[in-house]
Amino acid sequence: MMNLSVLLEESARKYPNKDAFIFMDKRLTFAQINGAANQIANSIQKLGIKKGDRVALSCLNLPYFPMVYFGILKAGAIVVPLSVLLKHDEIEYHLQNSGAKAYFCFEGTPDLPMAKEGYEGFCNTDCCEQFIVISPQMSDPSPIDGVKALGMLMKDEPPVFSTVVTKSDDTALIIYTSGTTGKPKGAELSHSNLLLNAMLSVKILSLEKEDTQLIVLPLFHIFAMTVLMNAGLYVGATSVLLPRFDASQVFGLMQKHQVNIFAGVPTMYWGLLNFEGEQFDLKGIAKNLKTCVSGGAALPVNVLENFKKKFNVDILEGYGMSEGSPVVTFNQKEFGTKAGSVGVPIWGVEVKIVDEEGKELPVGEKGELIYRGHNVMKGYYNNLEASEKTIQDGWLYSGDVAIKDEDGFFFIVDRTKDMIIRKGLNVYPREIEEVMMKHEAVSMVAVIGVPAESLGEEIKACVVRNNGFDISEEELISWTKAHIASYKYPRIIEFLDALPMSATGKILKKELS
Ligand code: ATP
Ligand code: MG
Repeated sequence: MMNLSVLLEESARKYPNKDAFIFMDKRLTFAQINGAANQIANSIQKLGIKKGDRVALSCLNLPYFPMVYFGILKAGAIVVPLSVLLKHDEIEYHLQNSGAKAYFCFEGTPDLPMAKEGYEGFCNTDCCEQFIVISPQMSDPSPIDGVKALGMLMKDEPPVFSTVVTKSDDTALIIYTSGTTGKPKGAELSHSNLLLNAMLSVKILSLEKEDTQLIVLPLFHIFAMTVLMNAGLYVGATSVLLPRFDASQVFGLMQKHQVNIFAGVPTMYWGLLNFEGEQFDLKGIAKNLKTCVSGGAALPVNVLENFKKKFNVDILEGYGMSEGSPVVTFNQKEFGTKAGSVGVPIWGVEVKIVDEEGKELPVGEKGELIYRGHNVMKGYYNNLEASEKTIQDGWLYSGDVAIKDEDGFFFIVDRTKDMIIRKGLNVYPREIEEVMMKHEAVSMVAVIGVPAESLGEEIKACVVRNNGFDISEEELISWTKAHIASYKYPRIIEFLDALPMSATGKILKKELS
């Protein structure tokens, strides 16, 4: 019997009265979260949800997230987390694609608004049989006809539940990829996939039960779910929840709760570095910080260096994906770290760089990163064709181009899909972005290929300028030309106020043209 909910149950037994989650002025102990999850598991069973049924969950970073998440798992059902930013048609796609039997959705509050599409229009449809609204007023009945309210469902249920027996290879989660390059695919992850990845994350973060971590990365995404929430529950650490990224709120909470563990995507580190207020004791905040980690997208080396200068802490960069539960490689203190690298494979995972025929390439050569081990998903839910293309002989083909160096450290070059082919030559946008980020006028940049008749594709940079710099397109083009091989510099530059961003803080290149 192996069920991911053991992460919560063990800590509830060992540290019942310790704070598991802090949200605003509320503190919830391990015993309280476990008790609520048990009540939810009881009510889920009463709704007729059985082992292996899919249950969707859409919720901001609030204590309801772990309560419902573990309630579903304890009942032997499969969690299908949905991004809180999805619009009606996207939600419909996810509910239908996963065949969800029930859908738990946070309804929002004036302070924490959710897109109305998140919950309206799904009750009494054939999308899912049961619709449960997560209302902040737990005792209130549902405001919408035909919809159940979580508080009402839980009200008369006992806080004890005997977890439904599941095997280590049974599916625990169907998590949709971020949709950065196309339609999101549902990666099917098992209990052991997730359990091992959480346990290994503890080591990467040097996480201990005395630690306090800030969770501002969305819990519906695999990064925060495994590396923070599940790892934190495993060791008995305290997690401070913040539903939306805002640099001043991040610093405020870090100061108030003496946060010492932080994880972010690169755009968040960029936001923290560029924060201009003076109301916080940044020296004191920096002194507390023990571990900072980054993943999900490439961390520009200058962000890493400036962060180190300002906060005196290394950002450990890792590489992962929904299909890998998520962690594949990480800069781990015990093996040393390298700036610009995503580190070495985690315990029990093998990584290779291969050519188009799947043949391993020598050190220093660019090729596709593939991996195998305990973190590889079972497959894409209901999509045998994509699964067979992605997993071959147990190796997962990542779609990312990378290099291995002589010390066994991996460097992500770019996504295969983002590669630009200009005059038959391969150009990787990330390399150009790294160079352009060094210019003092450049705050953020995304390099893309745009169709050009005679060349195939032309290189274009979409640039957000730093405040107070009004460099022209020509000036920036000629500066870049002086710093990079001539076939790689952008011939077109467009200045924008901001770059399109996904809910997980990734730059959405598919929306740029
Ligand atoms: P989709 O697969 O739907 O297009 P996605 O790939 O962005 O979306 P995720 O599973 O959230 O969905 O992200 C995994 C991807 O993020 C990796 O395949 C890789 O391209 C990128 N990534 C993760 N960590 C890093 C990193 N440290 N450096 C560069 N890229 C990274
Ligand atoms: Mg992907």
